[in-house]
Amino acid sequence: MSTTASPKHAPHPSLGLHDDPRFVADVTGAEGLSSGVAVSYNPATGDPIAGVRLDSADSYERTLDEMTEAFRRWRAVPAPERGLVVRAIGEELRTHLDALGELVSLEVGKIRAEGVGEVQETIDIADYAVGLSRMVGGATIPSERPMHRMMEQWLPLGPIGVITAFNFPNAVWGWNAMLAAVCGDVVLWKPSLLAPLTAMATNAIADRVASDMGHEGVFRLVIGTDDEVGERMIADRRLPLISATGSCAMGRHVGQVVAGRLGRCLLELGGNNAVIVEPDADLDLALKSIVFGAVGTAGQRCTTTRRVIAHESIADELVDRMAKAYSTITIGDPLAEGTLVGPVIGQRTVDAYLDAIAQAKDQGGTVVAGGETVSPEGLGGWFVKPAIVRAPKGNELPIAMDETFAPICYVFTYSDLNEALAMQNSVDQGLSSAIFSGSVRTTERFLNVDGSGSDCGLAYVNLGTSGAEIGGAFGGEKDTGGGREAGSDSWKAYMRRQTCTINYGNELRLAQGIRFE
Ligand code: NAD
Repeated sequence: MSTTASPKHAPHPSLGLHDDPRFVADVTGAEGLSSGVAVSYNPATGDPIAGVRLDSADSYERTLDEMTEAFRRWRAVPAPERGLVVRAIGEELRTHLDALGELVSLEVGKIRAEGVGEVQETIDIADYAVGLSRMVGGATIPSERPMHRMMEQWLPLGPIGVITAFNFPNAVWGWNAMLAAVCGDVVLWKPSLLAPLTAMATNAIADRVASDMGHEGVFRLVIGTDDEVGERMIADRRLPLISATGSCAMGRHVGQVVAGRLGRCLLELGGNNAVIVEPDADLDLALKSIVFGAVGTAGQRCTTTRRVIAHESIADELVDRMAKAYSTITIGDPLAEGTLVGPVIGQRTVDAYLDAIAQAKDQGGTVVAGGETVSPEGLGGWFVKPAIVRAPKGNELPIAMDETFAPICYVFTYSDLNEALAMQNSVDQGLSSAIFSGSVRTTERFLNVDGSGSDCGLAYVNLGTSGAEIGGAFGGEKDTGGGREAGSDSWKAYMRRQTCTINYGNELRLAQGIRFE
């Protein structure tokens, strides 16, 4: 592994952050959230980038009142016209693609290509939503009664709450907001306090475009603490849907509070994703996919490859090649040319990484690569070396059952495909899964239509676990929360279904042939 360094960066002036009344350029004295300011740090240097004034309970209430009004206006706009607003937002995001992508990198430490790629994902989902704005519709269903028509219509749901994780500070909002907007909902976004600047810049673009087209208040932002703003938001009956992305612990709590008021939740939570490598796999393909999946975004993707389950006949060769590939990775400033791995988000992640490595060793695991911190020259931030840990014989490695949100990849071996599948499905989470094999019998077993294959929401053949396209529904089962976002019919989560039955005859006919005379 080698390292790169480069000078500090600031948000690009074209994003207009300095003009936002919440923006605090000088954060001297703003230590701790009790100061009313959340400071955003550059994880590559450990230096503050800027601060953001926090919302209070009062400002939250005002925002919600305004949103309720905005929803009444927005839902009356025809869906294709709502699509034109989303199209204009996509166009505006295109003009800010590089600046916004760079801000993502600056604030959360992913490399520039991934920062820009994330904003591109929001642009893609905007395009998708524009098409959808002319397609959201329901079925006509045969009625059992003569001269009756039965049909479904899909109606706007209301103001919806979107809670986002730090690691996708732009795209997770995009997946939700672009669909919700064409569906006729207005969107209240509460971002992670680890990435408030990206949220401010992104929401400002959407809000400005919509307002210029005569639609104020469709996209609103609250930036506040979980105690004061988060709890208020999830308990708020004016928000019929809470879409929450983050850890399983957060989702368990949010899910319970929202269920307590009989609201709807869309939960996108943690993953513990595995790649199975069969003896007949194309190892070059598997290797590239595993390394990208395991070290990309410094192991801080929900879909990060956390476990490799390799057939015993190829495991040694695969681990050797992985270790060699890891030794060539450049770690450093995410905005510098040639960097493949940037920092992790903060000291807490460094501690979690070191703790997991120590536990893995205690449990008999062998660290084959990484396992320690690193200090790229000129950067004072939070860096760790991506690690490979080989499980002991018998595959007993309890630490691998948890999602440590850092670049650690555990390698297990197996002799029989059923054993590999059982290992893959043995964790609590069920987000992403992959198999590498040249045999259609094997891959069909992995995707088995009887449900006995992968138990995850995403299943890939000869592809890694991360890097989903927006056209499919994205999400996972079990402790991952069961939510689906982005493509396919995910839009249905943002609308309410109404089954309509119309009698165009002159007689009252009861269902099930009941006579009541
Ligand atoms: P986190 O759970 O710490 O925080 C996520 C969000 O929840 C933040 O905005 C936080 O402020 C908010 N939150 C926490 N408690 C809350 C409360 N009581 N009320 C309201 N909001 C509250 O997660 P994180 O560290 O930001 O992100 C990493 C986690 O997110 C990982 O587990 C990762 O796998 C997961 N993730 C999942 C997906 C997915 O699509 N499945 C995508 C990205 C990240």
